[in-house]
Amino acid sequence: MIVVMRRNCSQAEVAHMVERVESLGLKPHVLVGVERTVIAVIGPERDGLKETLETTPGVSEVLPILAPYKIASREVKPEPTVVRVRGLTVGGGHLGVIAGPCSVESEEQIMATARAVKAAGATALRGGAFKPRTSPYSFQGLKEAGLQLLAAAREETGLAVVTEVLATEDVPLVARYADVLQIGARNMQNYRLLEAVGRTTLPVLLKRGPSATMEELLLAAEYILDAGNPQVILCERGIRTFENHTRFTLPLASVPYLHAKTHLPVVVDPSHGTGHTWLVPEMASASVAAGADGLLIEVHPDPEHAVSDGYQSLNLEQFRHTMELCRRVARAVGKMMNASLCYGEAATAAAVAEGAVRA
Ligand code: PEP
Ligand code: MN
Repeated sequence: MIVVMRRNCSQAEVAHMVERVESLGLKPHVLVGVERTVIAVIGPERDGLKETLETTPGVSEVLPILAPYKIASREVKPEPTVVRVRGLTVGGGHLGVIAGPCSVESEEQIMATARAVKAAGATALRGGAFKPRTSPYSFQGLKEAGLQLLAAAREETGLAVVTEVLATEDVPLVARYADVLQIGARNMQNYRLLEAVGRTTLPVLLKRGPSATMEELLLAAEYILDAGNPQVILCERGIRTFENHTRFTLPLASVPYLHAKTHLPVVVDPSHGTGHTWLVPEMASASVAAGADGLLIEVHPDPEHAVSDGYQSLNLEQFRHTMELCRRVARAVGKMMNASLCYGEAATAAAVAEGAVRA
């Protein structure tokens, strides 16, 4: 149920409603909107509940939530959720660019990447320290040493760090270094892990499972929201189909579809979504055209020698070119994007004045 409070209701009435819902053995989620306060009531529906809630002071109306996901649904919160951490802003008209290698490999590799992606306009650095690999014999990541390298890169560049947490027991360790916790595609339905990241105060980037439906993705997000963490970013990273010209099939219709169903921001990962470096620039800019709130792109200073996913990684120059392409599309669709440091001062000032980029 959604309890829509009256426009001019008092804080005491909201507090009373919260107590009332709890006393009925249900869970209240208060969402303070620009227009009015809404309380999502989570728990089994029962006869007379609607009437009981409707007659509580301060209530305007009580409506059923039709979607199976409740807190994630746009019915409950029509305004888009904007996730902000350090210089990274995802949603609300901002395009957040998260770029970096598949795996953190060495100090030289991560520092060179961080400096270059920042100069090209990225606001967050990605890099796996705990890697989910298909084969147990493949490189599994540098673990805490990798997290330390990411933190050092953040120290120098100011970029927010986005990194994957593979297991529930690793959440406290990864949370000590990360600004955003990434839940990988393979773990999208690891419900205990979702609850664990839901209990942290860090934003979570939730990747779509390669065979998960949109509804399953939104229900996975619901686990994180229900555990108390409102900062969830959804990530379309491609799904498995019969098609094999690309590593996965990247369905960009997910972006407007998710925007219609949820207030959560949506980013696209064209690197895993295509599995081919040469397809990434156009699919990145196509994602921006489709309305994505951000991009997650694999970038490596020397993709040929990358320990993982080199075949889908952009080199530093290719990334710079991709950002230029995305910037043009962002301007056309009215999205704000961080200005590139190599963009040139005059051009940056003109673009900022136009409202197309953020200085
Ligand atoms: C990654 O981002 O490097 C990764 C392993 O992605 P996914 O979970 O989407 O396969
Ligand atoms: Mn990868």
